[in-house]
Amino acid sequence: NSFINWWKRKNQDDSKNTPELRTPRDIRSGDIADGIEGLIGNTPLMRIKSLSDATGCEILGKAEFLNPGGSPKDRAALYMINEAESEKLIQPNKGCTIFEGTSGSTGISIAMIAKAKGYNAWIIMPDDQAKEKYQILEKLGATVEKVKPASIVDRNQFVNLAKRRAEDFGKNEEKNKSKSKDGDNYEIINERKYSIENDEATGFFTDQFENLANYLAHYRGTGPEIYRQTNGKIDAIVTGAGTGGTIAGISRFLKPLIPNLKVILVDPPGSGLYNKVKHNVMYSPYEAEGTRMRHQVDTIVEGVGLNRMTENFNMSTGMIDDAIRVTDEEAVAMARYLANKEGLFIGSSSAINCVGCVRIARKLGPGHRIVTILCDSGQRHLTKFWNDEYLKQNNINPKEEEGLGFIN
Ligand code: PMP
Repeated sequence: NSFINWWKRKNQDDSKNTPELRTPRDIRSGDIADGIEGLIGNTPLMRIKSLSDATGCEILGKAEFLNPGGSPKDRAALYMINEAESEKLIQPNKGCTIFEGTSGSTGISIAMIAKAKGYNAWIIMPDDQAKEKYQILEKLGATVEKVKPASIVDRNQFVNLAKRRAEDFGKNEEKNKSKSKDGDNYEIINERKYSIENDEATGFFTDQFENLANYLAHYRGTGPEIYRQTNGKIDAIVTGAGTGGTIAGISRFLKPLIPNLKVILVDPPGSGLYNKVKHNVMYSPYEAEGTRMRHQVDTIVEGVGLNRMTENFNMSTGMIDDAIRVTDEEAVAMARYLANKEGLFIGSSSAINCVGCVRIARKLGPGHRIVTILCDSGQRHLTKFWNDEYLKQNNINPKEEEGLGFIN
């Protein structure tokens, strides 16, 4: 066929190709990552072209979805596990089990690193997250426990249950695995029989919400990387918070170095953080109405939003200048816009971050530089955030527009 002949002719002389070879990023010869852990962090910062062109600001996204576990939680998980190792709370290949309560991303990071290092992972999640996350956890060999979404005061809320499971680990193996003890309101899939061979087989609760190793991963990693990638030339950082580790770590590192930097929190519907930043009151919208809070946050967006203070979010005290509330419709419309305009296929928390960037760009005016976090890929959200049927059933009807007019 004529195309193949043309291609062969063009490539007859190999030397002609040599000048075309480019190293895509700062890749040095002999630069070999030491297993999965070696791939964590050092993510690229990308210019989001469609948003930059449309707003006249330079909007940059830290491509955290390129971490091996697919999100910035790889950084936090690695720091928490390394710290537990150095404190001798866990030792590899001794039957130690790591417990965590998570909306999924942290669980996936922990399950991945656990395999790399020689630990078991036991992950407890609310049962309303995108199916892909449970499936990935199962393939990574973690025990996955699904619980009904519940208020933090409920003893079977996913974080509380993870803590209790870790405390109970080894004391009474049957109790760990018994479903009837706490009623039938949870389901264990892919249960592994973890034999407790010896005294060194400990259970450890990583505790991403309260463990400051999470914050440190961003203070020592993500923050310095952003500084280097931008030479410190940034006007605003815009991002959401799930545990608060990212926003606290980045802002605490960057603010002292960049005096006029504005840090803006983006918050999904139902989260109390917006009110905390705006009015310094921490209450959930449900509690304000006097109703019992059933869901942590009431949104299609996964991984961000909080209705309580955490040690990690607390580290951002005095660092956050303003907050923006983003609707589910805006988030979905933004994700579709980016996929359509530039092939950037993102998940829900990245989408609210990008909506926040456009709002701040409009407020600051053209010529400013805004950095955000692209947390995970749309691939992890195919069955929910990216599922038209699901959206319709849940009465989420994003505006269909050519431009960015869907953002209020
Ligand atoms: N995006 C996603 C997809 C997440 O899973 C998380 C963490 N739960 C975040 C954003 C927020 O990060 P952080 O916990 O550091 O606030």
